[in-house]
Parts: sequence; structure tokens; C-alpha cells
Amino acid sequence: MLKIAIQKKGRLSDDSIELLSQCGIRFSKADNKLKAQAWNFPLEILFLRDDDIPGYVADGVADVGIVGENVLYETGLAVQVAEKLGFGKCRLSIAVPNAVEYTQLSQLKDQRIATSYPRLLGAFLQKNGIEARIHEISGSVEIAPGIGLADAICDLVSSGSTLISNGLKEAEVILKSEAVLICNTQLSTEAQRVLADLSFRIRSVLQGRNYKYILLNAPDAAIPTITSLLPGIKSPTVMPLREPGWSSLHSVVQENDFWEIIGRLREAGAEGILVLPIEKIIQ
Ligand code: ATP
Ligand code: ZN
Repeated sequence: MLKIAIQKKGRLSDDSIELLSQCGIRFSKADNKLKAQAWNFPLEILFLRDDDIPGYVADGVADVGIVGENVLYETGLAVQVAEKLGFGKCRLSIAVPNAVEYTQLSQLKDQRIATSYPRLLGAFLQKNGIEARIHEISGSVEIAPGIGLADAICDLVSSGSTLISNGLKEAEVILKSEAVLICNTQLSTEAQRVLADLSFRIRSVLQGRNYKYILLNAPDAAIPTITSLLPGIKSPTVMPLREPGWSSLHSVVQENDFWEIIGRLREAGAEGILVLPIEKIIQ
């Protein structure tokens, strides 16, 4: 049995539940319940506030957890990062009022910076030899400059729209963060075995998200060029079409390179290109 802590309600909740579900793990989440038992996998799910997750994992109340790197590194607790999960992406940034002409870090000297991340901000300032005054506040950090409480803030940013609506602009990025699977450093052999299975499933799902399945038709003469563009996992499948001189080619393509490769495939003579999502890639 493995106990996993995930965020009860917030930005990481839906993606965490979706990931477990894509790993084939079934459980029902009642709104007011603190925990759930998976029906088809030796997993107990604990629903907690994200700030408490690293502590519970470090203490062994939970074996593993899903939490943002920002929260994890702010606590400074000794847990292990087992997987990066590719969702909950954001930046921990210092932002200043729009009116400030910000050009360099030294401008922050002696300034009052409001944040919920005193440890990460402190470490960043110290590393850069800047002495500033850190004001720790627990919520609504972005309003601090407007009400005269601080000269700058250090907070999470994703689209930047919260900064804009508060008349602030991003000045320095301190940390790029995403959700990670963390684990206790002294798991039982049994828990390690379940974690290995869970990690394997998670990697298969994440790999699937990074790739698309692609099918296309091409004149036989174009197959070598197209193969070099779409090497696939081992090599592409090439099957003859009924029409002489033509083949159908099946492969996978990385999501990141997708549009560039599509353009080059068309130039090479590919037609009838179909692109499908992949649920899992087992390697
Ligand atoms: P809780 O009630 O569990 O303490 P919270 O209000 O502290 O929740 P959320 O706002 O739900 O936390 O954010 C959870 C995590 O989502 C953050 O710690 C961060 O890792 C990630 N995240 C991604 N984008 C953003 C963003 N734009 N603002 C805040 N957090 C973000
Ligand atoms: Zn929180």
C-alpha cells in the first residue's frame, strides 16, 4: 500500500486527479472526505492543503505527494523528487510597479519586498549580494505596493494578468516551477514497489502527452526524406497503398516540433496527413 497526498482544492487538484486517472487508477472523491481508497491499485489518496504536503511526506504520514516545486523548495524539507509532472507551471518572480524604470537587481537594495516565499526570496537576494527588507505576508501579495506596504513583491506568475491588473511588471524570475511527485526518503520495500509501478505508469502517460501519432501518404520516392523527418520510436512503418508508387507511413512526432515538421513533410510530398493523440507510450 502507498499513501499519496494531493491538493484537496486548488490549481493542482484537477490535473493531479486526471493524472492518476490516466494511470488507470480508479477512486471516487467525495467532496468532504479527507481520503479515498483506489479500487484497483494499492493506493490511498489523502486530500490536503498544498502547503502541508511536503511536511506530511517528510514525516511519513504520506509516502508520496504531488506539489509545486515552489512550495517544496520554500519548505526546504528533505524529501526526494521522483518525477517532474509537466503541469502547474509557473514562475516565482519579483515584480515592481510599472512606474519604476527597472534595469538591474541592485535597484532592490534596501527596498521592502512583500512575499509569501521569504526563504526562496532570501536565498536569491543573498546569492546576489542584495540587502533588502523582506515582508512576509500570507495572501494577496500583489496589492502590497498599491497600499504602500511594500516597494516590490515576490510572487507566483503564470500569464502575468494578475500583475497587469495591479499595475505591476515582472522584474526578475527567481524560480521556474512545475508540479512534482515527491517521496519520503525511507519508504518500506512494499511502498517502493508500488511507487516504481506508479512512476512507470506516470512516465508512460507523460510520454504519450509529448508525442502525437502521425499517418500520411507519400510517393515512394519521398519515403527516405520523410523517414529522416519522422524517425519514430524505432523506425516508421511503411505500407504500400493500392495505388502503385505510393505508400502510407506511420510514425510518432514530438508535440514541440510538430508544426515545423508538418511544413517540411508537405514540402517533401506528404499528403492526407492524419495526426492523433497518444494515450500512453510504454518503453
Ligand atoms: P491551498 O488551499 O491548497 O493552500 P493555494 O491557494 O495555496 O491552495 P493554489 O493557488 O491552488 O494554492 O496553487 C497551487 C499551486 O499551483 C501553486 O503552489 C503553484 O505551484 C501552482 N500554480 C500554477 N500557476 C499558478 C499561478 N498563476 N498562481 C499561483 N499558483 C500557481
Ligand atoms: Zn497553499
